[in-house]
Amino acid sequence: FMNGNVIDGKAVAAKIREETAAKVAELKAKFGKVPGLAVVIVGERKDSQTYVRMKKKACEEVGIASFGADLPDTATQDEVLAVVAGFNANPDVHGILVQLPLPKHIDEQAVLGAISVEKDVDGFQPLNIGRLAMKGREPLFTPCTPLGCMVLLERCGIPIKGKRAVVVGRSNIVGMPAALLLNKRDATVTVVHSATPKAEAEAICLQADIIIAAAGQAQLVRGSWVKPGAAVIDVGTNPIDDKTKASGYRLVGDAHFEECKAVAGAITPVPGGVGPMTIAILIRNTADSGERFITGAVKV
Ligand code: NDP
Repeated sequence: FMNGNVIDGKAVAAKIREETAAKVAELKAKFGKVPGLAVVIVGERKDSQTYVRMKKKACEEVGIASFGADLPDTATQDEVLAVVAGFNANPDVHGILVQLPLPKHIDEQAVLGAISVEKDVDGFQPLNIGRLAMKGREPLFTPCTPLGCMVLLERCGIPIKGKRAVVVGRSNIVGMPAALLLNKRDATVTVVHSATPKAEAEAICLQADIIIAAAGQAQLVRGSWVKPGAAVIDVGTNPIDDKTKASGYRLVGDAHFEECKAVAGAITPVPGGVGPMTIAILIRNTADSGERFITGAVKV
């Protein structure tokens, strides 16, 4: 899955999709049932609509049934909660995700908190995050983007156990769960964030065998931050002006790709690195959940 020292996220994601399709086909053959994912979207944000379309298409490609609720910007919180409750009770739905951000008048925590823990394919429920943090406990679901980072490391044969890892960023959806996952896989983990002085973040990263960059800051991690041979997993997707593109912009990561590539043992490109993994893990999480319900390990 590497071209030189560049990790091919698209190829790893394709492999995960293929494995997921095989699991779905097996469930269908044995039990006559397939996993189902429900995607709830509120409002007309173009980027959210695109993500939801991509998620539904990815489901269809592997044989997962996709359910949707497309609510207008004006939907009330009670209406959104009623939709979630409906999917919680629907035995054909094994995963529920609410596309974020929600319109401002809706309480995000209340909506996410209403999703059944057994159907929390995004892994954002406090119970799933808590289990991720605890020794000897396993969550039912792990957040897709950070788990995608781990799968990239594993499938590229990059050792984690006993290695020094630095996570740049501590958000609930990427940085924090990434640090918990690395800790669970026996790395020695440091987290740097917006209050870490930049020179200190650089010095700490320079000691790392693995850097996960998830700060949402274009090209923050420079070549001088990277220890020769280290792995750089770049989660960032930042639009920057580019007059040579018809759109007028292009996407760059949180790491300076060319500089870091010159020193790193392995690096993910943006796009084509972590990005494709997020959806691949989402459908894998859904298939795993479907398996638990269909085989009777978990009940609605
Ligand atoms: P957030 O903005 O929620 O969090 C950013 C984190 O980075 C915060 O913890 C913040 O610290 C920290 N941070 C900000 N500036 C610095 C700095 N200069 N040095 C160190 N840490 C800093 O972003 P997300 O976690 O949601 O996303 C991070 C990036 O990943 C974004 O570019 C986003 O677009 C991308 N992304 C990509 C996905 C994919 O599938 N490829 C999926 C999700 C996100 P503090 O806590 O102190 O505020």
